Amino acid sequence: MKCVVCHGENVEVREVKESIEVGSDLLHVTVSTPVCQTCGERYYDRKTMRYLESVEAEVKAGRGNVKQVGKLLAYG
Ligand SMILES: [Zn+2]
Repeated sequence: MKCVVCHGENVEVREVKESIEVGSDLLHVTVSTPVCQTCGERYYDRKTMRYLESVEAEVKAGRGNVKQVGKLLAYG
């Protein structure tokens, strides 16, 4: 597969952390998705998009297997 952003040929499936804002918290969701190794563009298929949306809805409703792994910091 060719990257539509940089036209590079080096697109490989990788595990990436997608960040979703939940109020003032940040939720990291690990997904496997094709990533351009040249420019970093991620290519989410429909199934992965739906998965991310369902995780977001679940966590916003106060459910889901969530653990705290860090703090969200703001400067200034
Ligand atoms: Zn690219």
